[in-house]
Amino acid sequence: MTTSQSLTVLSVTSEVYPLVKTGGLADVVGALPTALAPEDVEVRTLVPGYPSVLKALKDGHVAHEYEQLMGGPARLLAGTAGALDLMVLDAPHLFDRPGNPYLGPDGKDWPDNAIRFGALSRAAADVGRGLVLGYTPDVVHCHDWQAGLVPAYLAYSDGPRPVTVVTVHNLAFQGKFSAELLAPLGLPAEAYSLEELEYYGGISFLKAGLVFADHITTVSPTYAAEIRTNIGGMGLGGLLRKRGAAVSGILNGIDAFDWDPAHDGYIATPFDAKRLKDRVRNKLALQGRLGLDVSASTLLYGVVSRLTGQKGIDLLIEVLPSLVAQGAQLALLGSGDALLETALLDLAMQHPKQIAVRIGYDEALAHGMQAGVDALLVPSRFEPCGLTQLYAQRYGAIPVVARTGGLADTVVDANDAALAARMGTGVMFSPVTTDGLLYALERTAGLWAQPTVWRNLQRRAMAMDVSWTRPAAQYAALFRALVARGTAAPMSAV
Ligand code: ADP
Repeated sequence: MTTSQSLTVLSVTSEVYPLVKTGGLADVVGALPTALAPEDVEVRTLVPGYPSVLKALKDGHVAHEYEQLMGGPARLLAGTAGALDLMVLDAPHLFDRPGNPYLGPDGKDWPDNAIRFGALSRAAADVGRGLVLGYTPDVVHCHDWQAGLVPAYLAYSDGPRPVTVVTVHNLAFQGKFSAELLAPLGLPAEAYSLEELEYYGGISFLKAGLVFADHITTVSPTYAAEIRTNIGGMGLGGLLRKRGAAVSGILNGIDAFDWDPAHDGYIATPFDAKRLKDRVRNKLALQGRLGLDVSASTLLYGVVSRLTGQKGIDLLIEVLPSLVAQGAQLALLGSGDALLETALLDLAMQHPKQIAVRIGYDEALAHGMQAGVDALLVPSRFEPCGLTQLYAQRYGAIPVVARTGGLADTVVDANDAALAARMGTGVMFSPVTTDGLLYALERTAGLWAQPTVWRNLQRRAMAMDVSWTRPAAQYAALFRALVARGTAAPMSAV
């Protein structure tokens, strides 16, 4: 809590929980406004007017009308949805489309995604420069490539501008498009240079944000270090190295209200660290629901994940025969690459009592898994922060994670030294290979075989502070420091 002057932040995002979500970005953007309120930081969220967002908007009124915004008329609607204070970009020609915010019915990116999120960024920059009477934010907080052009539009405009912060939730998504789009996006031809938007013969929205933002954050300190390297930088490492101290990491928290095992309406039996005995009922219910052998003594692993190479799902598939041979079980919920989905379903057919696979997106089952599995596997090749290992710890599921990014920052490996010092909340492994993962499974089974050690791991995991309290204070301190410093010409930093 602080008594300093209140700050206004416009948070610009392509998804926000609970209105529209495809991944962790939505959770983070949805939780930050409430977390920042006690810090005297008022957040308004600018989000595209997808059908689900317009439906949820309450007390919406027109804050601005564009005759034309990238190919059609558009309006900025101000209103609320639950705890969220919203600014919605209602542009039917861009956003009145059903389903996933990025993909068309053929499962491919909408061909006009550059224009769609260019328009979002343009509107954010306009609001940042005082387009809406009575509302000029101190800070524009831009999330991922979809908001990457905001700092560029501001840099190419005259007059005062707000402080800009770009948060990278996943550097793999860079918003790469043809340079021919510069003109339709309303960007000057000189933007097509190595120091500005040019990227491997095209342009990158994320690069634009990284070049022009006053500050760049990513979602864990370890990932902030990894993205400065050539491999972790995925083409942008050199630029991030040049930005130096303008790049930092702030961990994500979780919504401690939605994810609270003592009051979780999705789970069979609520429990907390003092009533750990009750937890097993959730395990038995989960095994029963998924058609696995119902057995309290069998080590049950869980996975809740996008099914992609980033998440190491191919490694998991390779070690599954060993997991089965060890007599353990796996419950997996996810969706993603068709080849990985098929391989997992095949294995589940071969071992129906030990492997259960549910393809799809299911919030209720995700909660049931965290409450019921003994250990949660996260074998990611890279992981900016990761949320599922945070939920797992709060729910007493022991995280078994790759030593990378936010996983390395949020799990305390239960090695011998840690255990001797009464520390450790999970199992961490590296290198991230099948051998590394196999060894982690062996270590996990060894810990599972010692019920008191396991229970202590669970208690420590459940006691970890995975709330937004600390991260929110860090964001607030950063915003205040940047506003106090003022908007130096960001291009001097690169
Ligand atoms: P990422 O954003 O890279 O997908 P995170 O771990 O940061 O990974 O966040 C994933 C979020 O999506 C978590 O809230 C997780 O519970 C949720 N999630 C992932 N897959 C599913 C699924 N199939 N069903 C329900 N929730 C899912």
